[in-house]
Amino acid sequence: MANPTGFLDIARHERPDRPAAERVKSWDEFALPLPPETVARQAERCMECGIPFCHSACPVNNLIPDWNELVSEQDWKAASERLHATNNFPEFTGRVCPAPCEAACTLNLDDNPVTIKSIECEIADRAFREGWVTPRLAARGTGRRVAIVGSGPAGLACAQQLARMGHNPTVFEKADRIGGLLRYGIPDFKLAKSLIDRRVAQMEREGVLFRTNVEVGTEVTLDRLLDDYEMVVVAAGAERPRDLAIPGRELAGVHYAMDYLTQQNRRVAGDGETAEPITATGKHVVVIGGGDTGSDCIGTANRQGAASVTQLEIMPEPPAREDKALTWPNWPLRMRTSTSQEEGCARDFAVMTAAFEGEGRVERLRFTRIRWDEGRPEPVEGSDSHIPADLVLLAMGFTGTSFPAQGGGLELAGESILAGAKDFATSRPRVFACGDARRGQSLVVWAIREGRDCAAAVHKALSRL
Ligand SMILES: Cc1cc2nc3c(=O)[nH]c(=O)nc-3n(C[C@H](O)[C@H](O)[C@H](O)COP(=O)(O)OP(=O)(O)OC[C@H]3O[C@@H](n4cnc5c(N)ncnc54)[C@H](O)[C@@H]3O)c2cc1C
Ligand code: SF4
Repeated sequence: MANPTGFLDIARHERPDRPAAERVKSWDEFALPLPPETVARQAERCMECGIPFCHSACPVNNLIPDWNELVSEQDWKAASERLHATNNFPEFTGRVCPAPCEAACTLNLDDNPVTIKSIECEIADRAFREGWVTPRLAARGTGRRVAIVGSGPAGLACAQQLARMGHNPTVFEKADRIGGLLRYGIPDFKLAKSLIDRRVAQMEREGVLFRTNVEVGTEVTLDRLLDDYEMVVVAAGAERPRDLAIPGRELAGVHYAMDYLTQQNRRVAGDGETAEPITATGKHVVVIGGGDTGSDCIGTANRQGAASVTQLEIMPEPPAREDKALTWPNWPLRMRTSTSQEEGCARDFAVMTAAFEGEGRVERLRFTRIRWDEGRPEPVEGSDSHIPADLVLLAMGFTGTSFPAQGGGLELAGESILAGAKDFATSRPRVFACGDARRGQSLVVWAIREGRDCAAAVHKALSRL
């Protein structure tokens, strides 16, 4: 413990964001790094707890107290090695992770957790700046071929681990670029896409092959992959969006969030305009759904110059502050304001959308207020109302994978691919599944964890051949 009284003497100091009025004029990342000396001082706040709850709350079990100590001693290179020991892509999680580690930090008992996420981000960014992140080539090759379907964080982590074990992974991606939701879901202002390209370049040097614009299950069958590869990993995500089957759903101007977000990420990437552009410019935008996807729609709509942005949430407004005695170290349910919501948006809770109305195009959204009664929504009598809506974005989550699993002979569990949480084995021999395709809609950090564990399971299976 570099500074035994650091947690008492040093105040929590989070990395700043560009001011909201300024950042909405740009697609660039809004988070501003702190000087390394300030980050090192923040790491001194870590108490190196006997039971580090931060470590067990982290899905990749990052060795947080270890790298906090190394950062506080300004040994950034060793900190980077320790960080990369458990996390293939800390530059992604350092930007977009909700940080369950900080919720679990002992110092969060009085709302002042160690700034774990920004320390992680600075370690990763510095490691790249200093040239410490280099390809890690396996000493020997096994000649074993593994096909990985999907290039999101799960597929990428799986491929990188397998290549480092000496196997030959090939990643098949139906989109034109690598990255999954990192590329076409999460907006550039949260995660610059050059960071994905940088990792892909490292992975190519490590021996990973990438094949874009190939849809497995339609263009190439699973059977064909099993002829050509010893093992197949399905990391195809959970792309099937939840719909809202209400009157007016067919009107123009009502879209799934991902159709909208993908278009904008493509514009920023320089792809130009699509045949049917969906934009918020000058429109009254209503976002239905309160999660990450909804927030990303709000940030994108504000940057496009929406006339107004309203977010509707069916659940009641959560408490402003959690009861720590009941929730800590678990992830608490409490009111959160995302950076996108901070940039400008009206939020309404306990609202059920009843209909979209308009002549050919959506013009209004009709809703009813609800009361939650023992977990069941009850309409509040006389609360029917409407708001103007020129663009409605459905961001109510995802129900499961769109991978044609049954066509490939894979059993499903609900709408996800049935596979073990430890061996990742599907119902079909030599086929594994991981990430959102297996566990359902989740987080980047869980996708990385599943990709890593799945690679270990594939390695074990290969050693038995
Ligand atoms: C808009 C949005 C914002 C989000 N923001 C955050 C956030 O801030 N923080 C966070 O932690 N999580 C966030 N998430 C969740 C996170 O992005 C996912 O949990 C994570 O990306 C899942 O990784 P994955 O590799 O399992 O799947 P994905 O990232 O979905 O990747 C799956 C890939 O498989 C490809 N694919 C699918 N079918 C086929 C096929 N048949 N053949 C070939 N390729 C195929 C897809 O094109 C895709 O590239 C967000 C999700 C969304 C939708
Ligand atoms: S819980 Fe917080 S204070 Fe304790 S080891 Fe983890 S980061 Fe440090």
